[in-house]
Amino acid sequence: MTLRLQQHLYPIIDIMVKEAVRDVNDEGSKVSCRKGCDHCCHLLVEISWTEALEMAYWLAEQPESERNHFIARIHDNAKDARELFLQSRRDKQYADRVLDEEAEISEATHDAYFYDKKRPCPFLSTEGVCLAYEVRPSTCRTHVVTSPAELCSAEVSDSDDYDIPERIDDMRDEIAPLNIAVNGDSGWGHLAIMVELALASIQDPSKMLHTPLAASGA
Ligand code: SF4
Repeated sequence: MTLRLQQHLYPIIDIMVKEAVRDVNDEGSKVSCRKGCDHCCHLLVEISWTEALEMAYWLAEQPESERNHFIARIHDNAKDARELFLQSRRDKQYADRVLDEEAEISEATHDAYFYDKKRPCPFLSTEGVCLAYEVRPSTCRTHVVTSPAELCSAEVSDSDDYDIPERIDDMRDEIAPLNIAVNGDSGWGHLAIMVELALASIQDPSKMLHTPLAASGA
C-alpha cells in the first residue's frame, strides 16, 4: 500500500482555512471567493512534489477517456509554461523543477505569465469548476481574498492589489511548516510541469526525481 501523507494533510488544511475564514467573517470582512469564480485558476499555481504525486495518483484512478483528456491538457499547459520559462538560465532551472531557492522565476517571466494571455489550469472545467477538487493543492485551498474577485483576474492581477486579511496570512504561515514536514526538502514548481513529471515518475519509478515520504511504500 502506498503511503500518501499529503492525502492526510488536506483535511487538516481545510479545517484551518475554514476557521480562518470564519474569523475573517466574524471580524466584519467578506471573503470574495466562491464556487464558480475561477480567476485564480488562470494564474501561476505552484505545487509541491508530493502534491503533484497526489494529483498523478488521482489521475491514474480516473476513467481512461477523462484521464487522457486531462493528460493532454497537462502536456499542452506544461509545454506552454516551459517555453515561457526557458527565456533565461534562471527560468530554465525553474522549468526543469524548483530544486533550490536559487531557482526563482524571474520578475519579467512572472509578469509575462500573468499578463500575456489567460492560461486555464488543466483541471478547470469550462463552467469554472475544479475537476480535481479533492486533490487540489494547498495553494488553491489557501487562496482566500477579501478584495473584489476581478482583481484575481489574469488581465489585471497584481499581488499588490489583493486584499488578504492578516488572519489568512497567519493561517498560511501555520500551514507552511506542515507542508514542509510532508514534502521534505523536495521542491515546488508550476502545476502542469510538476504533475507531468509526477505522472512519468509513477509510470516509471526509475524516473522518480525525489523519493519523498509520500511516494514511498510498496
Ligand atoms: S487545481 Fe483546481 S482549484 Fe487549483 S488552479 Fe486548478 S482548477 Fe483551480
